Formats: sequence, structure tokens, C-alpha cells
Amino acid sequence: GWLQGDVALITGGGSGIGRAVAERFLAEGAHVAVFGRNQEKLDAVVAESGHPERMLAVAGDVRSSEDLHRAVGATVDRFGRLDIAVPNAGIWDFNRSLTRLSGGELAAAFDELFSINVKGYLLTAEAVWRELVKTRGCMVMTLSNASFHTAGGGPVYTASKFAARGLVNQLAYELAPKVRVNGVAVGGMNTDLRGPAAIGLRERSIADSFARSTVTGNNPLIPLHDSSVDPVDFTGPYVLLASRANSGNITGQTLQADGGIAVRGFGDRAAGGDQL
Ligand code: NAD
Repeated sequence: GWLQGDVALITGGGSGIGRAVAERFLAEGAHVAVFGRNQEKLDAVVAESGHPERMLAVAGDVRSSEDLHRAVGATVDRFGRLDIAVPNAGIWDFNRSLTRLSGGELAAAFDELFSINVKGYLLTAEAVWRELVKTRGCMVMTLSNASFHTAGGGPVYTASKFAARGLVNQLAYELAPKVRVNGVAVGGMNTDLRGPAAIGLRERSIADSFARSTVTGNNPLIPLHDSSVDPVDFTGPYVLLASRANSGNITGQTLQADGGIAVRGFGDRAAGGDQL
């Protein structure tokens, strides 16, 4: 495996792309700590992984620096080192546009979403960098199509994912030459992504939106039968960017794995249409 002997810590590793990356990293030979809010959910990920001896579950909230430091300490106690951190835990705003939010709702949604999607990433980076310096390790942050394009969320989510893209660049600059920092801008995936409790979206899941097929739109690759919105199909770029052997000279980059949103044209998807 490309990550043989490496130790990774993944926030939001209890479901969705975080869990899929955890399982993929295990398959590549890594030891993996998953961090999230729900201990039972994390324990199930470990139990079902097929490699419980190479996994660790730590419950906590990414808005708490103390929780994150405890997770890093537990990971290093258990596995001896930390090579890879994946800031990933996040929430979505279910495309709430500016015109559909009152000032009070906007303020509350912003505070909750930014505290997880942006402060959570920054606090994760703060908690891990000392260990990553020791191993000449790396961070691979989960970004989004909304880190580059409109309509991947409302203004609150889109601003948060542009902000996270800024963290990739700035932290790559600050932590060079010892720690590489890159991002994977994943596109729409069928996960359990939730929304801010402050505007009543805590119990709603993006899976409901996929059930109504309203998420990927006119995407060049995703609607094709041989493509997928399963998070497992988005894990390859994480392995690439986490691997010293494959991307030892790449930092401050964000790889867009969104089915080709940037190559949409005026017309329907694919110039060749049905003939391809
Ligand atoms: P998910 O809900 O399945 O996974 C996110 C995990 O983060 C969950 O396990 C959740 O419990 C955890 N989490 C949320 N808030 C937390 C907190 N305060 N502290 C600790 N853990 C917390 O959803 P997902 O789609 O896998 O989301 C992962 C990342 O992918 C997010 O950053 C999201 O913005 C990004 N993303 C998702 C999509 C998509 O379509 N699903 C598209 C682009 C980017």
C-alpha cells in the first residue's frame, strides 16, 4: 500500500467521505484514528473496518481545541506518530440563499457553520502541526466544488469552503518545508451531510436531496452510468496527496474531484452526446 506504516487522523471519520477515506487509508496500509461527535458511530466504523487493531476512535467536537489535542495525544500514544491529518468534519447549508434567510437566521447559521467548517479546520491544524513536523507529514483537507463554484450551497457554505481553500494555501506556506498541505475539492456525494441546528437543519441529510436527484445537476461525468456519487469513488485523490512517494513535491494545491463542473458548456453535457 502507498501509506504503509503511516498514521492518519481524520475528523468527521464516522460517516461519509471521512469514513470512506479512513477505510481506503487502511487498505493502503495506514493506521487510522477517526474523530467525531458520536462515540458509538465511531466504534461501529472501527468494528466494521476489518482491521480494528489498526484503528482508534476518539469522540469530540472540532470546535473544541481541547478535544482535538486529546485526540492527537491518544493517536500518538497508541500508534507512536502522526503522518497525515484530514480536516474533514463539516456541515452544509442546504443551499439557503441570502434571500431566504432573515438577518437573525443568517447570523446564527453563519456562526454555527463557520465554527465547524472553518474554525474546526484551523483548530485541527493547530492541534496536529507539531506532530506532522516530526514526521515530515501532511494535511489533506476536504474542500468542495463550493470552494470554486457557485450553487454548491448558499452564501454561508460557499464562503466557508472558499475560506478553507485559503487555509490550504496559507498553511502550505507557513508549514513548508516540513509539512505539505493540500486539499481535495470533492463534488456532490451521497452522504449523511447535515445542516446548522440554528436554522432547524440538524436532522436533515443531503441523502434526502439525492433521493430527489437535485444535487449534481448537469455534471459532465456524474450522471453517466459508470460514474457514482458514492464517497468511496472520491478517495483516490486523498491517497495521492497523502503519499510522500506520489506527491512529495506538491503543496498548496487543491485537486478538484467534482465530475468536471469547470468544463460544463452552454449546452447539455458532453459534445458527443449519446454517441459517447
Ligand atoms: P457526513 O455528515 O457524512 O460526514 C461529516 C462528519 O462530520 C459526520 O460524521 C459528522 O458527525 C461530523 N461532524 C459534524 N460536525 C462536527 C463537529 N462539530 N465535530 C466533530 N465532528 C463533526 O458528510 P460528508 O458529506 O461526508 O462531509 C464531509 C466533508 O465533505 C464536509 O467538509 C463537507 O463540507 C464536504 N463535502 C461534502 C459534499 C457532499 O455532497 N456530501 C460535497 C462537497 C464537500
